[in-house]
Amino acid sequence: MKLKIDHLIRSKRRTLSLIVETDGTLTVRAPQRMKETAIRKFVEQQGDWIKRKQARAQEDALPERQFVPGEYFMYLGEEFPLRLVQRQKPALVMDKVFKLSESAQPQAKSVFEAWYKNQAGTLIPERVNLYARRDKFKFNKLRISSARKRWGSCSAKRTLSFTWRLVMAPLDVIDYVVVHELCHLIRLDHSEKYWDLVAGILPDYKLKRKWLKDNGRFLIL
Ligand SMILES: [Zn+2]
Repeated sequence: MKLKIDHLIRSKRRTLSLIVETDGTLTVRAPQRMKETAIRKFVEQQGDWIKRKQARAQEDALPERQFVPGEYFMYLGEEFPLRLVQRQKPALVMDKVFKLSESAQPQAKSVFEAWYKNQAGTLIPERVNLYARRDKFKFNKLRISSARKRWGSCSAKRTLSFTWRLVMAPLDVIDYVVVHELCHLIRLDHSEKYWDLVAGILPDYKLKRKWLKDNGRFLIL
């Protein structure tokens, strides 16, 4: 995809410079007479850096959660609204909407976190065991982490870790991360042979990986 240059400022400078503004727009400063094609080429070469910066800008721009009615929360790739209810045990129940006990609202963030961790603790081992059994992967331990940026990992000691945030993603994306880490039990690299293993189990894994790249930053509380 072509990167959009939002502002092109020409001046008496000799070199090109790129600035990703706090709102994610791209400003390019260029010498007076530099050709458009040369500018374009430079921007494309720096594409990864620009996209990384833009993703970070977007992340920073996400509004802080208030845990008030009308806010939406992700679960298995769908968004569900929050509703406050009177006295309820447990404090948070998911039934097409997230019902949160009014009295628990001051601790809403930790209540939600506990809820997600609980879901992850059931669902992720289920998916891991499903693929491990079917495709004969042997792992040592499975743990649910609170990692922010890492969806999963696989250690040399054959311990698999997955962040609880993953249950906000659609099931097929969760499965991709599960298969990704299981395949590391066979190869601890990202070589062509490794990706062949992944593709052998999930032929359309690239779509899932892209989903995660595009939407991963929204999988936060
Ligand atoms: Zn990997």
